[in-house]
Amino acid sequence: MVVTAHCRNVSCGHKQELDLLRLRDTLGADTPAMRDDLLPRMKCGECQSRNVDLIYTPDYAKADAKRTGNAYAKTRDGRCLRFLPTSSLSTD
Ligand SMILES: [Zn+2]
Repeated sequence: MVVTAHCRNVSCGHKQELDLLRLRDTLGADTPAMRDDLLPRMKCGECQSRNVDLIYTPDYAKADAKRTGNAYAKTRDGRCLRFLPTSSLSTD
């Protein structure tokens, strides 16, 4: 999971990926990290505005790693082994 904070001040637009390990060390491992929990603590590092929002993005690399056992995922990568190339088919 990647959490990106972005400033909603139109003249600023600053955005920054949050360091979740640092956040855990600062707030404590048991502190909730959902949007409504974090927003009251956030402000833009550039313009100091508190009009900040968060975007939670799944870690697609980990999700792809979980799919490797999935035959459909393999076909999407072009590595499907279920079908032979037509040149290897025999007409006998
Ligand atoms: Zn800003």
